[in-house]
Amino acid sequence: MGLPPAILYSAVFILGLCIGSFLNVVITRLPVMLMRRWREEARESLELPPEPAPAFNLAVPASMCPRCETPIAWHDNLPLLGWLKRRGRCAHCETPISPQYPLVELAGGLLAIAVAALFGFEPSALFIYAACLVLLVLAVIDFRTFFLPDALTLPLLWLGLVYQLLFQPYFLSDAVIGAMAGYLVLWSFFWLFKLATGKEGMGFGDFKLLAALGAWLGWTFLPLLLILSAGLGALVGGLAQWLSPSLRGKPLPFGPFLALAGWVCLLAGDELFALYVALGY
Ligand SMILES: [Zn+2]
Repeated sequence: MGLPPAILYSAVFILGLCIGSFLNVVITRLPVMLMRRWREEARESLELPPEPAPAFNLAVPASMCPRCETPIAWHDNLPLLGWLKRRGRCAHCETPISPQYPLVELAGGLLAIAVAALFGFEPSALFIYAACLVLLVLAVIDFRTFFLPDALTLPLLWLGLVYQLLFQPYFLSDAVIGAMAGYLVLWSFFWLFKLATGKEGMGFGDFKLLAALGAWLGWTFLPLLLILSAGLGALVGGLAQWLSPSLRGKPLPFGPFLALAGWVCLLAGDELFALYVALGY
């Protein structure tokens, strides 16, 4: 490509910001859409008549303020700029708007630059970018709702296997073993912890997320993923409790830390793996 890198990367960043803006819609609406569907299915099996409800999906209704329901004008809805322009408040009722919106947009933009810089403008890089975005959505949904939807963890797993099949078929068996072992490792931890303490330390979504990461990175990365995510979780959990004693005893979702470890390994895996092997011997 003949474009100067500054222009090329600016375009990649802006595209990433716009994708991040769409991810915010998925993050806020997907859990509500799933809850509605389960409710409908439950009513169906109880042979109750369907409840009338206005359409709600990724496209409908248009973006609006969650408090006063004023539709958001396009110029206030521009990625990053809209939030900065309104200083994080609704234009109509001044209700603070969550920093989640600009942060997810920024993450979409920065991940696009990181993937383009590390993997170039190749079809395989698009797959890696897609995996990073699904991890971003999962991390924020789990943080908000303590829930990792199958509608995202399972496609992430299949996409990882397709990626291996297309771009590194020699790695496919490592990936399949990675997916199976990833699920089994956390499943075993879950049952050991439950038998020992009577408590549930994590959810089934976590097993599926580690299975998906195993499909992307292969079984050899599983110990590193677990060390990184548990370490990050302990660090952030400890810091949060130290800064705010009201958080003491509150559970912390594990998904965001698994997702963060997944990003690190997807983007800097080869370097990290070399270091990890070197430390091991
Ligand atoms: Zn408002």
